[in-house]
Amino acid sequence: MDGKKLEYKGEEALRELEKLTERTGEVQVNLLKDILMKNKNTEYLNKYMKEPTEVTTFKRLVPVVTYADIQPYIQRIANGEDSSLISGQTITEMLRSSGTSAGEQKLMPSIAEDLDRRTFLYNLIMPIMNQYVPGLDKGKAMYLYFVKSETPTPSGIPTRPVLTSYYKSKHFKCRPPDPFNDYTSPDQAILCTDNRQSMYCQLLAGLVHRHQVLRLGAVFASAFLRAISFLERNWVHLCNDIRTGSLDSTTIVDPGCRTAMSDVLRSPNPLLADEIEAICRCKSWKGILCQLWPRAKYIEAVVTGTMAQYIPALNFYSGGKLPLVCTMYASSECYFGVNLNPLCDPAEVSYTLLPNMGYFEFIPLGDNGRLLLMMDAGNEEEVVPVDKLVDLAHVRPGCYYELVVTTFAGLYRYRIGDVLQVTGFYNRAPQFRFICRRNVVLSIDTDKTNEEDLHKSVSMAKKLLEPYNALLVEYTSYADTSTIPGHYVLYWEVLHLQHSSTTNGVVSLFDAHLLPECCSTVEESLDYVYRRCRAYDKSVGPLEIRLVGAGTFDALMDLCISQGGSINQYKTPRCIKSAAGLELLNSRVKACFFSPRDPTWIP
Ligand code: AMP
Repeated sequence: MDGKKLEYKGEEALRELEKLTERTGEVQVNLLKDILMKNKNTEYLNKYMKEPTEVTTFKRLVPVVTYADIQPYIQRIANGEDSSLISGQTITEMLRSSGTSAGEQKLMPSIAEDLDRRTFLYNLIMPIMNQYVPGLDKGKAMYLYFVKSETPTPSGIPTRPVLTSYYKSKHFKCRPPDPFNDYTSPDQAILCTDNRQSMYCQLLAGLVHRHQVLRLGAVFASAFLRAISFLERNWVHLCNDIRTGSLDSTTIVDPGCRTAMSDVLRSPNPLLADEIEAICRCKSWKGILCQLWPRAKYIEAVVTGTMAQYIPALNFYSGGKLPLVCTMYASSECYFGVNLNPLCDPAEVSYTLLPNMGYFEFIPLGDNGRLLLMMDAGNEEEVVPVDKLVDLAHVRPGCYYELVVTTFAGLYRYRIGDVLQVTGFYNRAPQFRFICRRNVVLSIDTDKTNEEDLHKSVSMAKKLLEPYNALLVEYTSYADTSTIPGHYVLYWEVLHLQHSSTTNGVVSLFDAHLLPECCSTVEESLDYVYRRCRAYDKSVGPLEIRLVGAGTFDALMDLCISQGGSINQYKTPRCIKSAAGLELLNSRVKACFFSPRDPTWIP
């Protein structure tokens, strides 16, 4: 593929989008032919096909796989064998995904031209936004982006998260000046691998330019909220720097950050420092974003999937005044698609899959708006019959599917693990709602709770906190089988929006029945099989909520990041399995509550 072909901007990018989506089926078949032609000499394809360029043979013979199946090939390349094991082009980097397989981080192969494909998708975002929010070229974007340090494989291939790869690439660093993509954060601050210094400098730059900022954001909502919490802890220092016109020399030592920030903090600005201080001093931070950045028109961050739980917190900090914009759906394996209706309600977000990103196929999971087949971790080993797969051009509205991709870099019919539902079409390109990741489940007996069900139940229960002026800021779960019968444990971190002077710790604000009622509400909202297990089989014990202290989930994030995760891509695991994670959570428990009664179950 010629990278130049993908260099579209503005109106031209939108015209290309029209063309691609009008010819979805054709684009996909040509792309698959191209992948097979380029990769025909790979050991992987030759293992399954005698004539590796034939689309029909590929469809008949190449199996649907999970990470465990391809891990040996990845490992061999990481150890120094040739890229041609899986790809016709050199594997230039291994992208560290946020997922794990058998406790190990997943490494996804990537080739140089993948950066062109990612850039093509990024270049679509502003032309799409510009159709809905005019004037975005008249100011700046305060987007908090972070990189993670990289480590080489034994053979010297860099391994890094996909976003780190992008920010370090010439596609980002040498981008031509563009009034639609004028960021407050200096590149050196984004590229600083010390996340604390990077965050400090990026927030400082965002505050200095507060009157020019038109949009706020981060990749995921969790990262944006983490920035707000950092600001809550550090605004005094930040204001000091603005007041004196000099960067805190004790904590910000990174030379790149210091050089870049000396350009931002040109001279002392006590007036600006006073303004910001007056805003940050307010008792309640409700609506603070619109006060600090009065011209901001929206917040851009992923708030679909597991990120949906952050919507109330984002709305709290924006006073409900800023639309939450989810622009794209992507992964380390492949970038997938864009949201063509970016101002829609987060619950309505659908992504249009771009047919030139990778070859997409779908494992049907259910019809008529009903998710029939619950995929769980066990199903990963299940062989998916290849004749069951549906092409991108042939998915049906309302149906649920698991996404499977084939890429130039050497993934063939690889299960991404995301469950999607078709909501409609843009031209001939299907649009999908993100439902959940397949492998996040709680199960004690025959019950199986997926992420969406858990989220729905928790959403029902957390409403009970509202009259107490409290907000569930984070949660995760654990299937506790150390007791017989085992039971579901939910770890909840609760934030009080207004502190009462009589408060003595988290628990005292609640009346004694509140959290047991929350337990019960979660159980009532879980599915039929769960309630049968609880009420009839008695194979599941009463659900427990363990309240954890403030900052616990930040600490959990730190733990995951210290083990090699990326701050940009970090998503709170909805189910904790790691011993270290559980130990951390359990060490922060303030109080435990159990469901006081069996949930309703009618045979
Ligand atoms: P990673 O491989 O770490 O980049 O994570 C990719 C995964 O993040 C995807 O497979 C999805 O499960 C999730 N993800 C990415 N973008 C979105 C989105 N817009 N909405 C919901 N989940 C997303």
